[in-house]
Amino acid sequence: MTSEGEQAADPDHHLGAGDRPDPALGMDLSDIEAAEGFPRVPDAFQRLWTPHRMVYIGGQDKPKDSGPAECPFCAAPKKSDEEALIVARGETVYAVLNLYPYNPGHLLICPYRHVADYTELTPAETVELAEFTQKAMEVIRAVSGPDGFNLGMNQGEVAGAGIAAHLHQHVVPRWSGDANFLPIVAQTKALPQVHADVRAALSKEWNR
Ligand SMILES: [Zn+2]
Repeated sequence: MTSEGEQAADPDHHLGAGDRPDPALGMDLSDIEAAEGFPRVPDAFQRLWTPHRMVYIGGQDKPKDSGPAECPFCAAPKKSDEEALIVARGETVYAVLNLYPYNPGHLLICPYRHVADYTELTPAETVELAEFTQKAMEVIRAVSGPDGFNLGMNQGEVAGAGIAAHLHQHVVPRWSGDANFLPIVAQTKALPQVHADVRAALSKEWNR
């Protein structure tokens, strides 16, 4: 077992004054306070702190009304690809990274038009949305070799649509064993790659 593993298995191990984390991590350690100064009850659990998730949990990004003015899917194409995490732009639809991915490379294919229901798409939008979905699968396969995909549209909030007012098709790459205990017990996904890197890799392959 590694020393890290031994430490993780020892619930009584706490950071002491002379027991700083590895400076190789590149953190500024001057602000870290020793655990001795705080009320505490040791137990068997490790803690994974995810304060960035509060933006999602608090709904700060969620539009207040369902009109185009507040809609993130209407706003994204007006920004640069890098800023909006857009991977590819078509005539009637575009592909964008989901800011809250289930897995790295989780894409959303959206019409530019602010429509909610699949039946509202024009024939041209319907065809291009399907073509973009196929292309997204090919690109993700070439870049990261997933074992499978989940494809789908949640129609209405009751069906799980986070932004119900603007249609979006999910393209979610899946790997064997990607559903570990974290999403089940903690509603948390561990994501090993940051958005900018994923977007750059997918965009490069899409336009190859
Ligand atoms: Zn919209």
